[in-house]
Amino acid sequence: MSKCKYCKSTNIEHKEEQELITYKGKDLNISVEFSICCKCGREFISKPQILNNDARVRDAKKVADGLLTSSEIYEARVKLGLTQEQASIIFGGGKNAFSKYERAEVSQSIAMDKLIKVCLRHPKVFRELSTAVN
Ligand SMILES: [Zn+2]
Repeated sequence: MSKCKYCKSTNIEHKEEQELITYKGKDLNISVEFSICCKCGREFISKPQILNNDARVRDAKKVADGLLTSSEIYEARVKLGLTQEQASIIFGGGKNAFSKYERAEVSQSIAMDKLIKVCLRHPKVFRELSTAVN
């Protein structure tokens, strides 16, 4: 439960509004979360809301760039039958890479994106890539 920093009230209303951002000449419409204190009327963005908003911006940019979104990465990993840790070993990016991609905490590189898509399309390539690791 969030609390107003100004008046300490816990009577907080959760809101969302559409925000337009420009990215590489394209307009991206993003739903942004924020809070309003019902007691003093202050608007603020809580820590989890900031993280959610960042994740949404990152995903919208990925769509604009033609990259897999965080949920598409999750689906791809499940389809390939990998745990997050196994995926990070096979595709690289460090131990927690896939957990970060799937939470949209960081974006995968273009090379990583291509590799994942190639593996989805060509099981043989994926098999070769995964056995090369072991
Ligand atoms: Zn307040």
